[in-house]
Amino acid sequence: MDEQLQFGESDALIAFRQAWEKALSLLAPEISRPVFESFLNTAKPISIDGNTATIGAASELAKLYLEKYAELLKTALETTFGPELQVIFAVAPREPEKRPSKAKEARPTGGIISPISLPLNDKYVFTNFVVGPCNRLAHAAAKAIAEKPGRVYNPFFLYGGPGLGKTHLLQAIGHHAMARHPSVRIAYVSGELFTSHYVTALREHRSEDFRQNYRSVDILLVDDVQFLAGKERTKEEFFHTFNTLYQMDKQIVLSSDRSPRDLNPFEERLRSRFESGLVVDLAPPDLETRIAILQNKALAEGIGISLPVLECIANLIPTNVRALEGALVTLLAYSSLMKVPLSVRLAKEVLERYIVEKKLSELTPDAIQRAVARAFGVDAHDLQSESRRRDLVTPRHVAMYLSRALTACSLAAIGKVFGGRDHATVLHACRRIEALLGKDPSLRSTVEQLTQDLKAGRA
Ligand code: ADP
Ligand code: MG
Repeated sequence: MDEQLQFGESDALIAFRQAWEKALSLLAPEISRPVFESFLNTAKPISIDGNTATIGAASELAKLYLEKYAELLKTALETTFGPELQVIFAVAPREPEKRPSKAKEARPTGGIISPISLPLNDKYVFTNFVVGPCNRLAHAAAKAIAEKPGRVYNPFFLYGGPGLGKTHLLQAIGHHAMARHPSVRIAYVSGELFTSHYVTALREHRSEDFRQNYRSVDILLVDDVQFLAGKERTKEEFFHTFNTLYQMDKQIVLSSDRSPRDLNPFEERLRSRFESGLVVDLAPPDLETRIAILQNKALAEGIGISLPVLECIANLIPTNVRALEGALVTLLAYSSLMKVPLSVRLAKEVLERYIVEKKLSELTPDAIQRAVARAFGVDAHDLQSESRRRDLVTPRHVAMYLSRALTACSLAAIGKVFGGRDHATVLHACRRIEALLGKDPSLRSTVEQLTQDLKAGRA
C-alpha cells in the first residue's frame, strides 16, 4: 500500500482498484471472451465514496453487460468492502482523446476527392464500425492503410458476402486518409462506375482524360471489382491502371464478393496481381458483434433499447449486417407507428413475420421446382420438360401451384420457367391441384409439408 500511496491515490481507491481486478478475474471464466474483452474488461473503477462504488463503463452497451453481471461483481467486491456496498455503473468512455472524433473523421479537413469519385457516405467511418472476431483483421489492415497509404499492404483485397461491411471499410479508408493526409487525392469507384467511365471515354474519344484521371490519384478504392469479370476491354484497361498506380507506390484497395481465386472469368495475370498484396475476408458477425452493431446503430439514432430486445433481434437475424439494420428499422417503425413499447415479445412477433416475408420474397419458382422434385423423387429438369409421363404430371402441377401460392410471380412468368408453357396451362394446373387437395389426404400432407419447409427456408 505504501508504495502505491506515492502515486497520490487514496487508500480506498487503491483497494477498490485491486478488488475490481479480482472481481473481473473471477468473472472472466464465466463469460465468453469477446463479451468479456469488449464490455467488461474495458470498465474502470472510478470512485469509492462511503459505501458507494462507481464503475465506469466504456459504452451504453458495456453498461448493460455490467448490469447483467452486477450480482456476481458485487459479491466479489463485498469480500473487500462488506455487504453494505452499493455498486453504480456509469457510462464513462475511456481515453476520448485517443479516438478521432466523428466530426473530424467524417468531414476531412485536408485531402482531395477526385472528380471521378463517387461521394463518400459520412456514416461509413471507422468510428462507426464495430469490430469483432469476424472483421478484426480487415479493420486493422484498413486502418493501417489509411494511416500509411501505399506503404503497408498494397494492393489490399477485401472480400466477403453481401452486407458484411466491404463498402463501409473502403469508404472509411478514404475518410481517414483524407483526415490524416492533407494533400492526399483519393477516388472511390465501383467496378460498375469504372466500366462506365471507360466506355464513355472510348465513345467520346477521351481515353487520355480517362487515364489521366485514374492515374493521378494516391488512393484508388474499387468496390465490387467482380463487376469487371467478363468485360474484356475494361479489364485490360483496369490492368494498366493497376500497374501504373502500383509502380508509383499508390495505394490500391479492392473489394469483391468472392476471393481472387474464385474471380471468374478474370485472367490469371489480374488475379495474381490481386493476390500479390494482402487478401482478407470478412466473415458474418457472431452474436456478440451483432448485438454491439445493433446497440451502436440504436445509439446513433438516439434510441435506447434494452439488452434483451437487442439479443432477441441478434438471435433472430443471424445473417448479414444489412439485414440486421433492416430488422431494427422495421421494428422501430412498427413500435413508433403502432405506439407500442419495444419489448422482446414485440420483437419476436414483428421479426418472425419480417423473416418469413423476406424468405418468401426470396423464394423463386426455381427453388420450388427443386424442392418439389426432391419430395416426389423426380428430376427437377423433367418438371420443365415437355414430357407427359404420368409420374411427372402431378409434381409439375404441384410446383406450379406452389409457385403461384408462395411467390409474387404472374401466371405467365410461372409458365415461362416451366418450359415456356402459357398462363392458361398454369391456371389449369392450380385448379387441378386445388381439387385434388380436397380428396387426396396423402397429396395434401405432402403439399402442406412442402409449404411449411419452403416458408421456413428449409427446402
Ligand atoms: P457490403 O459492401 O459488404 O455489402 P456494407 O459495407 O454496405 O456491406 O454494409 C451494409 C450495412 O451494414 C452498412 O450500413 C454498414 O454501415 C453496416 N455495417 C457492416 N458492417 C458493420 C460493422 N462491423 N459495424 C457497423 N456497421 C456495419
Ligand atoms: Mg458494398
